[in-house]
Amino acid sequence: MPQIEQTISNTTVGHEGKEPQLPKPIADDWYEVKPFSDNVNLITEKHLAPWLRCNIWHVRGRDSDLIIDTGMGLRPLVKEVASLAGRPLTAIITHSHFDHSGGLHEFEHRCGHPLEAAIMDAPTPSNTVADTGYVRAETFLALPWEGFRYQDYEVKPAPLTRHLDEGDVFDLGDRVFKVFHLPGHSPGSVALLEEATGTLFSGDVIYDGELLDNLYHSVPEQLEESLKRLKELPVSTVHGGHFGSFGKDRMEQIIGEYLAGGRRVGESNDWVEASINAASSD
Ligand SMILES: [Zn+2]
Ligand SMILES: [Zn+2]
Repeated sequence: MPQIEQTISNTTVGHEGKEPQLPKPIADDWYEVKPFSDNVNLITEKHLAPWLRCNIWHVRGRDSDLIIDTGMGLRPLVKEVASLAGRPLTAIITHSHFDHSGGLHEFEHRCGHPLEAAIMDAPTPSNTVADTGYVRAETFLALPWEGFRYQDYEVKPAPLTRHLDEGDVFDLGDRVFKVFHLPGHSPGSVALLEEATGTLFSGDVIYDGELLDNLYHSVPEQLEESLKRLKELPVSTVHGGHFGSFGKDRMEQIIGEYLAGGRRVGESNDWVEASINAASSD
């Protein structure tokens, strides 16, 4: 798999935008599934640039399953991921940004915080932050369908069917997840914690990369408070909204760096361009 991606990116991504881009291949499979040992599956949109792709988490329970975040919604998730077939699914968005909420419209049971509800009723490129420089030619290592144009990308409306708030619980029969409202990155950002195992699904509140606190509805002071709250929770494993999973020590390190003024994306166009250049020199 890494070899295939390398080939695709070498043939399609221009160096620093100076060379004309060759036509990109149309992707065959869109999703990749990585199973963890505890009935947690990580689903990713493998043809999106690694600096953009969101982690879609599938938790298999005895009676029902959770999908935590849904990706960009470019290809049908349930139809194309065999392990989801026939499962009773509840979809939760940790927040309404396009990379997490784009696939929500596929699901009958759509959960999120009320402060993100108006966005899911009437998503636009600006209220889902799809217009902030992250959706561009280099975002796509292969195309989801023939004739796809990134300029036309939009999140489809997906009105929430259940509003989540602090303390709400998802009981899957054999495991229980509790909702935490952790605003700052966005007003209605939520995380889910399985207290029995210390497994946290954190969305974009925390992940192992630079954090985003300067979007139109971000409030850095709130993100600080949310991160301080996370430090007090019984967390052992963090499954973030992007990049790899990590443990409590790493979580504390990331929080410490952010609280000390580091670990921020800053100006998003500059960050994206630096990420593209880093990827093409790998
Ligand atoms: Zn986000
Ligand atoms: Zn994100």
